[in-house]
Amino acid sequence: MNYVDVVVIGAGQAGLSSAFHLRRSGFEPGRDFVVLDHAPRPGGAWQFRWPTLTYGRVHGMHALPGMELTGADPERPSSEVIGEYFADYERTFRLAVRRPVHVRAVREGSGESDGRLLVETSAGTWAARAVINATGTWDRPFQPYLPGQELFRGRQVHTARYPGPEAFAGERVVVIGGGTSAVQHLLEVSRVAASTTWVTRRPPVFREGPFTEERGREAVSLVEQRVRDGLPPRSVVSVTGLPMTEEMRAARESGVLERLPMFDRITPDGVAWDGGREIAADSLLWATGFRPVVAHLAPLGLREPGGGIRMDGTRAVRDPRVHLVGYGPSASTIGANRAGRAAVRDIRKLLAREPEPVG
Ligand SMILES: Cc1cc2nc3c(=O)[nH]c(=O)nc-3n(C[C@H](O)[C@H](O)[C@H](O)COP(=O)(O)OP(=O)(O)OC[C@H]3O[C@@H](n4cnc5c(N)ncnc54)[C@H](O)[C@@H]3O)c2cc1C
Repeated sequence: MNYVDVVVIGAGQAGLSSAFHLRRSGFEPGRDFVVLDHAPRPGGAWQFRWPTLTYGRVHGMHALPGMELTGADPERPSSEVIGEYFADYERTFRLAVRRPVHVRAVREGSGESDGRLLVETSAGTWAARAVINATGTWDRPFQPYLPGQELFRGRQVHTARYPGPEAFAGERVVVIGGGTSAVQHLLEVSRVAASTTWVTRRPPVFREGPFTEERGREAVSLVEQRVRDGLPPRSVVSVTGLPMTEEMRAARESGVLERLPMFDRITPDGVAWDGGREIAADSLLWATGFRPVVAHLAPLGLREPGGGIRMDGTRAVRDPRVHLVGYGPSASTIGANRAGRAAVRDIRKLLAREPEPVG
């Protein structure tokens, strides 16, 4: 058994921000806290993103606290650029990231570990006084079930396994989903596919004009209210709308962004609506989002009847030793940065450490 003050689960933006603030407030990496991550390399979810998502196509990626990301080639894949940046960051601040270590469960300690949280992993158990959960959503892609799904003879791919557009050359592709990923897939795939069809549950809302801080704050506070009420969080993008870029304007003019409502069934050869409409497809590309990775917290019984974990800031209301960062309202790079800082401030109080230095 390893005894530490804090275990951080996940070394993405949220976990590294938390580790930075822990270290800055006097927690010694390796002795007072550890960061556990089951991915093979640094980079959080970015390391798995498709090669055509170049650094130049990533908008609004905020640097981690304390170290800028400068001079990156916008043509290189973001998986490489951000992977290298995170690796450098972990080295520079000696953040004690252990990988690959898979966290299986977090449960209440007993006996010698009474009052602590036991973090059970593929590399042994840690007994911690607090846990910062920063496991993101990438490992839990969400795909709705539709009748006939198992009969489809073509290929079905989720964003989490999107290989880039070339794999769809010459195909008839149906893209499902109303978020940024769906639109990015459509713009790319439509250049090489025989045809594309866009299907969304609700009519997409395009946002004209710049994304002001005020609009950002409004969106975040809507998601915040949901997690305060113990409801499952919605993605921040689902409340901000889709930013209308020049590329999207051109795609809209050429008809690529014409959208159909959700189909009712999947047939062996495509998709079908109850009214009689059918569209043949070789591939269904599901850009239907992700859900928070929190199953390992189940033994703590944090869930509310509404299906979510009730939060006060980053703290789980049912267990103040548990913080969720990068969850719900903080599921963006800037949100994750702030959440890491807020969680550490709270944990310092919980563990009766000195207040954080100003600045
Ligand atoms: C395609 C795409 C593009 C995006 N572009 C932007 C953008 O331009 N700007 C922006 O602000 N946001 C963007 N986002 C959102 C942004 O990526 C996330 O909000 C943020 O990077 C998530 O950071 P995170 O630390 O919460 O999660 P992640 O980066 O997913 O890190 C979670 C880590 O936890 C680890 N983990 C999970 N479960 C376990 C376990 N049981 N045991 C051990 N380790 C575990 C994983 O290996 C992973 O390394 C984008 C998201 C997507 C999907």
